[in-house]
Amino acid sequence: MQGESDGDEEERSVKSISGKKRKITTPTIDKYKTYTKNGYTRQYPDNSSNGDFVVYLEHLDREIKLGNMNPLNLSKYFKNIKGVHERARINSNKIKISFKQAALANDFLKSRCLLEHNLRAYIPASSVERVGVIRYIPKEIGNKELFEKICCDRDVVGIRRFMKREKGNLIPLSTISITFSGTSLPEYILLDGWRYKVHTYIPPLLQCFKCLKFNHSAKICRSEQVCSKCSENHSYKDCSSETLKCTNCSGNHLAISKDCPIKAARILKHRQSYAMATINKDFVNFPALPKSSIQKYTGKVDSNKNIELPHVPTKTDNFNISDIVNNTKVMNSIIKTLVALGNSESIKTTSHIKEIFIKNLSE
Ligand SMILES: [Zn+2]
Ligand SMILES: [Zn+2]
Ligand SMILES: [Zn+2]
Repeated sequence: MQGESDGDEEERSVKSISGKKRKITTPTIDKYKTYTKNGYTRQYPDNSSNGDFVVYLEHLDREIKLGNMNPLNLSKYFKNIKGVHERARINSNKIKISFKQAALANDFLKSRCLLEHNLRAYIPASSVERVGVIRYIPKEIGNKELFEKICCDRDVVGIRRFMKREKGNLIPLSTISITFSGTSLPEYILLDGWRYKVHTYIPPLLQCFKCLKFNHSAKICRSEQVCSKCSENHSYKDCSSETLKCTNCSGNHLAISKDCPIKAARILKHRQSYAMATINKDFVNFPALPKSSIQKYTGKVDSNKNIELPHVPTKTDNFNISDIVNNTKVMNSIIKTLVALGNSESIKTTSHIKEIFIKNLSE
């Protein structure tokens, strides 16, 4: 999200009257610092079983690329680790280890072999957390205060206030994101007894600062440095060009600009695929809802119409992707929903998308 950053930046370098740079701390910004629940670390619920419990592994020394190491050499690190059923490379920095049981994955995080080999192990956020966005939260409330006042039927593990940079200052916005533990979002939260709707958070499209292409970060980029101003092979800081040339579309704008038609198209595609992934996840993770609650949920659907809702598969139903792919009605509804989303200017939340999808399905 352009113009937004999180509240982590409480210290800023400013020039004093004497012209020397000094660091200042803004006390008002402190309360908007991302808040994480005391003592929280990501864990799989200990009672979950029959799954693929993934742990990511990186070297603490950023220069050592675990993903580029010889896998046979890496194997000996984990000789004594119990319950590992698969290992795979994620990228040059990262490998993943899958466990069959949650408790074994959790135990691995505390394993001594990590310390011995200077490794960092963590559960990927997408396995155990969901991020929701809440709008119209009074700007003067700090994150810790919000954490203490929010009531909801899920465990809240983190709060972030969206901030805007204006003339070098960070200004709080009225939107916050909440990280909930679990694999689904609550429909709403209560703050001081007021009900606020929870929307799905769609992370911004990743653009590499080094090569300016999309969906990867500079940390793992193997391409040459490209200038965001002139698209030659140097840093934008060293650029002396008078004219702008975008490396992605050759247009007259910065390669990071939202005016870039290629970037705009990628943002749209990113949002659609993210929304689609959320719908798929919901199919797998949500238990079948009683029909009455689905009808309540899809408030805009004509209530006189008798909606024939499909059975929502759950994990225990041996859910199979071909069940959806071979179902013409479901597939047509998905395609119709995607086309509607592609033609729509506004950003859609999960509940909007679900509403459109269920409406298409019931037609
Ligand atoms: Zn790159
Ligand atoms: Zn340049
Ligand atoms: Zn462009």
